[in-house]
Amino acid sequence: MFDRTETAIDEPHAIRVMGAPFDGTVSFRPGARFGPEAIRAASDGLETWSPVLDLDLQDVSYADAGDLELPMGDVPAALALIREAARRALEHGAVPFLLGGEHLVSLPAIEAVHERYSDLVVVQLDAHADQREHYLGVRLSHACVMRRVAELTGLERIRQLGIRSGTREEYALMREHGTLSTFRQQDLAGLRAWIGGRPLYLSVDLDVFDPGCFPGTGTPEPGGIDWWTFQRFLQAIAGCRIVGLDVVELAPQLDASGCSSVLAAKCVREMLLCAQMGAGHA
Ligand code: MN
Ligand code: MN
Repeated sequence: MFDRTETAIDEPHAIRVMGAPFDGTVSFRPGARFGPEAIRAASDGLETWSPVLDLDLQDVSYADAGDLELPMGDVPAALALIREAARRALEHGAVPFLLGGEHLVSLPAIEAVHERYSDLVVVQLDAHADQREHYLGVRLSHACVMRRVAELTGLERIRQLGIRSGTREEYALMREHGTLSTFRQQDLAGLRAWIGGRPLYLSVDLDVFDPGCFPGTGTPEPGGIDWWTFQRFLQAIAGCRIVGLDVVELAPQLDASGCSSVLAAKCVREMLLCAQMGAGHA
């Protein structure tokens, strides 16, 4: 489904897909570095048309830049390479769409997008708050990624959905700043109104899904959403001005059935279609 020909990025395109196969800071089970490759392989089994959005990938202007080569043992160097790649996409007028990798890869992409759009808002789907000040003394960890993002944007420009795990301190912080929202229909309508015409970065940590339908992830957390909840979320934000997006934390080898990779690929398809719908006013 996704085009791997790297020559495609020489042609004009609205959305640039790129793999960030990095899992150097994961706190529990590794394997997210194999995510991008598994998403591409699984995408071959999916249709290009979305019955819900009534759109086809063939009508989306996107290119796949392939995977970045990232040094697993050097976190700042890996993040710098991702930041540069996102900047290059933006310079070419393309919306960066990152395939993780662990959730920390979102940080440099959001930094690059925020350089261009100072009024950026960020919507995070995740089981985990990712609002720790540090994790075992490390500030650049997937467990701290949204706290680092908040240092850029301020917590008032972040909304978090699906969160069901965190520390007492993280929950106190999120409640104080009102970042938490839900997938209830009225809250989705409220989220859409809150985003308004502002540029949106959408970060989907796939462990927001229930481990029953998405076991292939490093830090599974019971009590997650199903596919149709995710689809309702996307319908609610369709038409928003999406200027950056990512799908992270697929660890394909932790799900021998391969269904987690298929779900991730379907997320990517629907998010590409959604981003295209909002591209008119990017
Ligand atoms: Mn996360
Ligand atoms: Mn998570």
